[in-house]
Amino acid sequence: MITINEHYNKLQASYLFSDIAKRVQSYQTNNPDKSIIKLGIGDVTEPLPQACIQAFHQAVDEMADGALFRGYGPEQGYAFLREAIAVNDFQSRGADISADEIFISDGAKCDTGNIQELFSEDTVVAIPDPVYPVYLDTNVMAGRTGAFVSGRYEGIVYLDSVKENNFVPALPTEKVDLIYLCFPNNPTGSTISKQELKQWVDYAREHKALILFDAAYEAFIRDESLPKSIYEIEGARDVAIEFRSFSKNAGFTGTRCAYAVIPKSCMAYTAKGVPEQLHRLWNRRHCTKFNGVSYPVQRAAEAVYSPEGKTQVNTLVAKYMGNAALIRSEMTALGYDCVGGDNSPYIWIDGRSDSWQFFDLLLDKAGVVCTPGAGFGKCGAGYIRLSAFNSRDNVTRAMQRIKKALNG
Ligand SMILES: *Cc1c(COP(=O)(O)O)cnc(C)c1O
Repeated sequence: MITINEHYNKLQASYLFSDIAKRVQSYQTNNPDKSIIKLGIGDVTEPLPQACIQAFHQAVDEMADGALFRGYGPEQGYAFLREAIAVNDFQSRGADISADEIFISDGAKCDTGNIQELFSEDTVVAIPDPVYPVYLDTNVMAGRTGAFVSGRYEGIVYLDSVKENNFVPALPTEKVDLIYLCFPNNPTGSTISKQELKQWVDYAREHKALILFDAAYEAFIRDESLPKSIYEIEGARDVAIEFRSFSKNAGFTGTRCAYAVIPKSCMAYTAKGVPEQLHRLWNRRHCTKFNGVSYPVQRAAEAVYSPEGKTQVNTLVAKYMGNAALIRSEMTALGYDCVGGDNSPYIWIDGRSDSWQFFDLLLDKAGVVCTPGAGFGKCGAGYIRLSAFNSRDNVTRAMQRIKKALNG
């Protein structure tokens, strides 16, 4: 008899986006003449930068040429891309990371989801609340949690991100082995300072723990004093893995390219306490289960680091950040407490009511769709997330409507 992995039965069906769709559908049916503006989107809306498109086209032409055609590439990614990443994203900021410590992949979602395979089943896992659901669900699937009881999985150490701590969780009071951090944060838009991040690195060093640092939104950081990479923190090389993606900075959500950084000095331990290089384990895993990102996509990603590419990506990010500033200033002027939107594309708003009640209010009175914070965890209750991923036109109209709806 074939039996299932019963840990899957512990997973909570995510009704968040289907619930949103249902409410939007019913609003549209009752108000056929009203247009809806979606500020709930976690996906980019602008096209790829021209430099990426040109490199993409050229690489496709190479694939049509018998002399230039390429079959399987290195599983870890082509050297041209790994070199460009190491120099531009790390060495230029004083972070000691070399090209052979970088693994190119088809997404930070897969990387952050797959990495837990390397760790034992009894690993004590610390996960922020609210959170990007991938970290939690993949640990549930792997059997590292108990049942779901009153809104939380047993066995997980939740790191509350709330107003009182400025949405940067405090160090756990119990001993944990694996720590997920995401800054700038999705969904809260909060950022972490170098001093705060250093406390996590010090904790990990002291307890032989490991930090998984999701930096998918680093391109949105405007404040130069904030760390873009965890490797800007002294000692992080030995206790942290970092995840990056071309999805949000260069609009690759539909093109697919990302990378994981696993420094060769980063260790985990056998049950007997013998250190093992995580780089070696991940390389084994990656080569067994993954056959590389397509050549044209890696060329398109490389173009992000060309002079034109850098300018175009900056323009793209600045466009979204203009939207974010507009959303944040309007909501603040309306009297709502906001976080994010200054160094991130998300604005996390205290609705001072139930998340879904506020969602319904914005939909019914303004025709604007947001994301209810309760969908991201217990600590998200009462909040909504507004996203800057939209056209300026749509954001401007949405904010005018919200102002009118909430003022009158
Ligand atoms: C969008 C996003 C990513 C990027 O995922 P990809 O699979 O690379 O598109 C990673 N982490 C978070 C928190 C995100 O919001």
